[in-house]
Amino acid sequence: MAEPRPIVELGNPVLRQTAAAIADPQDPALQALIDDLLHTVTLSNGVGIAAPQVAESLQLFIVASRPNPRYPNAPEMEPTAMLNPKILAHNDELEKGWEGCLSVPGLRGMVPRYTEIEVEYWGRDGKATRQILTDFIARIFQHELDHLNGLVFLDRVESTHDLISEKEFQARMVTPSAN
Ligand code: ZN
Repeated sequence: MAEPRPIVELGNPVLRQTAAAIADPQDPALQALIDDLLHTVTLSNGVGIAAPQVAESLQLFIVASRPNPRYPNAPEMEPTAMLNPKILAHNDELEKGWEGCLSVPGLRGMVPRYTEIEVEYWGRDGKATRQILTDFIARIFQHELDHLNGLVFLDRVESTHDLISEKEFQARMVTPSAN
């Protein structure tokens, strides 16, 4: 049974560590961790979560874009576990967009990210996959990959003026309903 895992927040040293590569994708403890992360990201209204965010310093994250109260305009996709992920190539276009983080509650920041990246990762079955990711999905991948290298989105904002509170973000981004 998948269990929600407590999410560690900024200040916890595990978020500043470099995560270890995964040697054995079939390890039952790793498969259980993947199930727990899938469950946790859904419960938290996240569009992604990295293993270090639940205090597991491993090269693993989930990308799970879908519209939800925290990201009303997110594209829909099948939640995907990505093991030992890397960026093979990227375009030259950096675009600023809003990001938040389950480990940095209450804040949003405008973060520059590449709009197109070619990536490689292992699926949870250990099979290597290469993909081109664009726009919001590419943004999630870059955000989560940073977590595996001890970085959070605050390290990427160009100015503290690019930070706003979650409440202000919701007020600006969510179109009010007709009633
Ligand atoms: Zn994050």
